[in-house]
Amino acid sequence: MSPLTVAVIGAGAAGTAAARTLHASGVDVAVQVFTRTGERPYNRTLVNKGVAIGLLDPDQIALPDAAVPLRADTARGLDPRSRRVHFNSGRSEKFEAVIIATGSRPRHLDETIIGRDQATDAGRLTTLHSLADAVRVRDFLATTHPVRVLILGGGLGHV
Ligand SMILES: Cc1cc2nc3c(=O)[nH]c(=O)nc-3n(C[C@H](O)[C@H](O)[C@H](O)COP(=O)(O)OP(=O)(O)OC[C@H]3O[C@@H](n4cnc5c(N)ncnc54)[C@H](O)[C@@H]3O)c2cc1C
Repeated sequence: MSPLTVAVIGAGAAGTAAARTLHASGVDVAVQVFTRTGERPYNRTLVNKGVAIGLLDPDQIALPDAAVPLRADTARGLDPRSRRVHFNSGRSEKFEAVIIATGSRPRHLDETIIGRDQATDAGRLTTLHSLADAVRVRDFLATTHPVRVLILGGGLGHV
């Protein structure tokens, strides 16, 4: 019998752990993990504590291999009837099961806040969620002195 084919969409902590666990389970599965086009999986918890403050380079926060094939091709659609996943590259592939581990999105400031767009356009207002955000903050801090920083939000991202 051919192995059960599984697509894991998202290669963050959750997707990588799911893929590794399935791979090690002893069940006959063929797992593939997908991350966004052009993205190498990274440890999001180090975005603020490492990269944004210049302590670590982006390469140093890469996640270890999930032990299964990884493809950088953003998933853009699912067809439950044909069981196919469609990707940005134009490819589509059939899987018996799909695990969605695409994470969360940062909540932006409300559009009614005066000055929001001007501050964003000037590179002085940013979310701190992705590696790209962290690199932007790092580069801004490196070129602007003295700098006063206001952090809005008291969750894990502000630590
Ligand atoms: C700045 C910051 C600091 C944090 N610090 C801590 C901490 O110190 N301790 C702690 O426990 N937690 C921390 N967290 C929370 C922790 O990072 C998250 O809980 C964790 O990353 C969630 O993992 P995840 O795999 O669900 O999502 P993510 O890490 O967001 O991974 C999702 C992945 O899916 C990919 N993806 C999304 N859409 C698609 C698509 N259509 N096709 C293909 N791939 C896609 C994304 O590119 C991403 O790689 C922090 C979060 C932030 C933002």
